[in-house]
Amino acid sequence: MTALKEQYRKLGISEAVFDHCMKVRTDLKEIFEESEETAEYNQLKVLDAMRRCRVSEACLFPSSGYGYNDIGRDTLERVYAEVFGAEDALVRPLFACGTHAIAVALMGNLRPGDELYSPAGKPYDTLEEVIGIRPSAGSFAEYGIKYRQTDLLPDGSFDYEEIRRAVNEKTKVVMIQRSKGYQVRPSFSVQQIGELIAFIKNLKPDVIAFVDNCYGEFVETIEPTQSGADLIAGSLIKNPGGGLAPTGGYIAGKKEYVEAAACRLTTPGLGREVGATLGVNKSFFQGLFMAPSVTCAAVKGAIFAAALYERLGFEVLPKYSEPRHDIIQAVAFHNRDAMIAFCQGIQEAAPVDSFVECEPWAMPGYDSDVIMAAGAFVSGSSIELSADGPVKPPYAVYFQGGLTEQHVFFGIMNTLQKLKDTGIISEEQLR
Ligand SMILES: *Cc1c(COP(=O)(O)O)cnc(C)c1O
Repeated sequence: MTALKEQYRKLGISEAVFDHCMKVRTDLKEIFEESEETAEYNQLKVLDAMRRCRVSEACLFPSSGYGYNDIGRDTLERVYAEVFGAEDALVRPLFACGTHAIAVALMGNLRPGDELYSPAGKPYDTLEEVIGIRPSAGSFAEYGIKYRQTDLLPDGSFDYEEIRRAVNEKTKVVMIQRSKGYQVRPSFSVQQIGELIAFIKNLKPDVIAFVDNCYGEFVETIEPTQSGADLIAGSLIKNPGGGLAPTGGYIAGKKEYVEAAACRLTTPGLGREVGATLGVNKSFFQGLFMAPSVTCAAVKGAIFAAALYERLGFEVLPKYSEPRHDIIQAVAFHNRDAMIAFCQGIQEAAPVDSFVECEPWAMPGYDSDVIMAAGAFVSGSSIELSADGPVKPPYAVYFQGGLTEQHVFFGIMNTLQKLKDTGIISEEQLR
């Protein structure tokens, strides 16, 4: 312990901060064990899928040109389907990001005159322009696809009465976002999502249930495709890429809906048969293999941050003792300087760009300054340690990721050190 404390001191963590954080971590042992059990279950699930799909060395080689008969790509897609308990999957570096995968999944399955319905409040910010909630060239609205939404009740639960009224004969796709994203609402469990889908399918059995699965993968032992979702999508620079995938996204679900999406990703007629992988197969396989333990590190870091800041009297969402459905931790500091100090602590803890001092900045699309802390091996990767938030009341920081638990723990400890150095936290509070 003294050698470890000394090593922390070398990196700028004082004895008081170290001792305080270690006490908090010791108290979290039992909660951490639950996350570790989930990771163990999911690791076996991934390994089992890789063995049953007979992943071979040949699967790790690159393809070029049209990418016909890319055995690595095709095998990886079977592995993803198995892991998600789905009929089929599309896993491609051609997906530029999560928004792209989600948009392709939706666009491939909607036709003019159809209605897209969100029964659980507004979707992720970037999807507003995809749908046309905010007018945008090429949006669904321009193609005559209507959008309808039912907000959550004030306590964050589903408004079943209103949902019953909203579902109609034009409702083709229902979209549900698992993670809270940047909203102040709880994230939904896979079971809750399953109940909502069952309710809606009871009203209209042929509706396609789509789930935005971003940030949720491997946090629980089952995925939405195992609780009634027909189609899910997500980003490979979040959980399922395990920090190793350099780009990409995935779609998984019922075969006919995945095929329809493939025809939108490439072209009608070509569908999934084309798409060179240019050498990313290896990192996609290896990243998926690492994903359960990487996700576990991120979840444990989020729990630690929640416990630490909750005890110091700050408002956290979710609380440390609440079950986890994604890797995001929000801390509302109600204090501008505290928010900035927190982000600077994360930035300084990064393996890349640690020397950069992050500051609030105006960003297109936001109505206030935004602060972002990230120093990742993969640009913009939020499965790596990162934090951000709009610099306005309640001065909430959204914190996520971390490839190893040792790194996340250090990052969080460094945020506390920053808050202490700026005088926001006193020595007294750490006793
Ligand atoms: C990250 C995310 C997306 C997609 O974002 P990209 O930045 O395009 O990858 C969509 N929905 C949620 C809930 C997300 O967290």
